[in-house]
Amino acid sequence: SRIFEPNVLKKDFPILSEPVRGKRLVWLDNAATTQKPRAVIDRLSFFYEHENSNIHRAAHTLAAKATDAYEAARETVRRFINAPSARDIVFVRGTTEGINLVAQSWGRRNVREGDEIVITWLEHHANIVPWQQLCSEKGARLRVAPVDDRGQVILEEYEKLLGPRTRLVSFTQVSNALGTITPAVDMIDMAHRHGAVVLLDGAQAVSHMPVDVQALGCDFFVFSGHKVFAPTGIGAVFGRAELLEAMPPWQGGGNMIQDVTFERTTYQPPPARFEAGTGNIADAVGLGAALDWLTRVGVHNVERYEHELLEYGTNALLAVPGLTLIGTAPQKAGVLSFVLDGKKTEEVGGLLDQEGIAVRSGHHCAQPILRRFGLEATVRASLAPYNTCEDIDALARALHRLQTGR
Ligand code: PMP
Repeated sequence: SRIFEPNVLKKDFPILSEPVRGKRLVWLDNAATTQKPRAVIDRLSFFYEHENSNIHRAAHTLAAKATDAYEAARETVRRFINAPSARDIVFVRGTTEGINLVAQSWGRRNVREGDEIVITWLEHHANIVPWQQLCSEKGARLRVAPVDDRGQVILEEYEKLLGPRTRLVSFTQVSNALGTITPAVDMIDMAHRHGAVVLLDGAQAVSHMPVDVQALGCDFFVFSGHKVFAPTGIGAVFGRAELLEAMPPWQGGGNMIQDVTFERTTYQPPPARFEAGTGNIADAVGLGAALDWLTRVGVHNVERYEHELLEYGTNALLAVPGLTLIGTAPQKAGVLSFVLDGKKTEEVGGLLDQEGIAVRSGHHCAQPILRRFGLEATVRASLAPYNTCEDIDALARALHRLQTGR
């Protein structure tokens, strides 16, 4: 991999030289979605110009090319998260669809009345609502592990929630609202000691740190392409082979069947069993290109660099009068969530936008964790490897001006 140089990296992203409100764009909304490198944009064009076809069914040259490209992308995803086999990788629309797949297929089959599902206070709505729906359908109970004042899961409290009724534990590896990196390996081990299955929400992890699902030991791992430099509308579920093989389909249609009569239908083995209908072929190929791009940059390099940038950003923001950082766990990735004394978060977001600085203000689809801190909203600046100290300086300068008028 080449030498890691953010200002060179930036040039891979055409949109980063797009002026916004007459200013240089400072993109600090990476937790919402990342920008796309030229390699991904070009790969999509190449697919549509040279390979476009539906996959699997037709026996002609372009069908074979499209199928090869799609399956090569599945193998790239497998390699990127070190899954044992490409058969363990199911393409979905994103993290939300992936969690719903597990809830509706594995969950409906395995969760019964009186069972318990454990999540944490840090979860995104996508990792709350599907479990609530499953619990109310089954008469199961949703239990929530608390976090401390810095925004880290309290392990002793989490452990107390685990017991013989715990069927599933589902939690995020990195909080999108605060940036907290949860102690995933310990939490997974504890859950397994109680015989529970574990889903890890990797939506905010994959772009910031190396992920190895075998080292983590999780049973399911879910992520979205668009948060890791790939197109929208594509993501993946990893599931342990024994679990996937025992799971019923969750949607019926083409692609997922072996044989159909009016009396009886038999299904494909995984992953095809979970990919009914025509999938998002081009964007899956784009996801492969994005992961290849990130691998060339080096996920370890990104992790190291963003750690420095986060430290730089933390210090810069703490120097802004009246600014309170929300989420101060020692283990954090890529997120600076804050409020300013006397200012509404929308107002801050709007004023930053006038400077060409894109941040998110709002509840970040994680209302419970913000309410844990007595808030309905924060301003969130979130990092990617193409961000620089200059970007942070621009943010800090604008916030200073907002607070002091200078
Ligand atoms: N989980 C986490 C931790 C997230 O940050 C997000 C996206 N903000 C999601 C789940 C949902 O991802 P998507 O909207 O791509 O389905």
